[in-house]
Amino acid sequence: MPETNGHGAGAGNEAPSGHRLASLTLVPRATVRSVAKDFKSDQEVRWCPGCGDYAILAAFQAFLPELDVPRENVVVISGIGCSSRLPYYVNSYGMHSIHGRAPAIATGLAALTGHADVAFVSSTDMPFLHPAFIRRVLRVLEESEGTDVALPVARGHEQPLVAAYRVSLAGAAERLVKEDRLRPAHLFDECRVETLDDAALKRDPVLAALDPDLDSVLNVNTPADYAAARARPAPEVTVQLFGTLTKGGNAGGPHVIRAATVGGAAEALAVVFDRHVTAALNGGQITRDRATPLTAGDTVFFLSADAALASVVSGTGRRGAG
Ligand code: SF4
Repeated sequence: MPETNGHGAGAGNEAPSGHRLASLTLVPRATVRSVAKDFKSDQEVRWCPGCGDYAILAAFQAFLPELDVPRENVVVISGIGCSSRLPYYVNSYGMHSIHGRAPAIATGLAALTGHADVAFVSSTDMPFLHPAFIRRVLRVLEESEGTDVALPVARGHEQPLVAAYRVSLAGAAERLVKEDRLRPAHLFDECRVETLDDAALKRDPVLAALDPDLDSVLNVNTPADYAAARARPAPEVTVQLFGTLTKGGNAGGPHVIRAATVGGAAEALAVVFDRHVTAALNGGQITRDRATPLTAGDTVFFLSADAALASVVSGTGRRGAG
């Protein structure tokens, strides 16, 4: 069904062809042209006279048509403060939310109550967070029943957003949010915290080998951070080939290569990763998704259909493969 903006499609009303951000190549295009007024809601704009937010709102509404995205695919999300009334004034989907670490931690712990004893909390902007780092931090709570929070103090900073918390802290976390005491330190004041500095973290030999600089705690906040992250070399992984994939001059391996995804690993060894090929990640996770991410130290087995079948018949394959 064609998308509309409420102003109808017709001659001279087609979506514009230019001005599209390169990063939106995978986002569906609008089928009709939008203008700034399409993004104005029926809500009365209520800011102080002369507030700069008026200009920002106007610029935002004028810019949105340039994205060439259907209005119903636009979501405006705001945090706190006067400016965060913006979603009400934009005719799109929107969310006027709260922000901060404490509500997110409290919400997560509450959601896990009755389902788990321990939660690992991480923010979403840490692209180099390594599974070995998570295991290292979680092990503190496994080995010490008297500890409520395993808090890394890595690269010189407390890292409450790559830490492990007992789910039993949910009540205290919720109360602190209600009291508007939003810093994680307030929660730490009320429970037993074990900190792990760089040396303590790297006492785990696997973590020390696979993430020696503790890049697990690096976060990406700016376009420059993002560009720097993309410019890093892909992680070193080990790949083995099985079945007919070893024919035609391709040795089975193991091959140590650099690849950020399963698809990248296949390309590095000229494996045609089509429906006849299955990948097994770290001996367990079966995937045919080229975009499956890899981290340093991962192993990838590529199995042709005949090899996968043979391993299942012989009992060496994992049930549920494919
Ligand atoms: S930010 Fe808020 S308080 Fe400040 S001028 Fe704008 S509306 Fe008024």
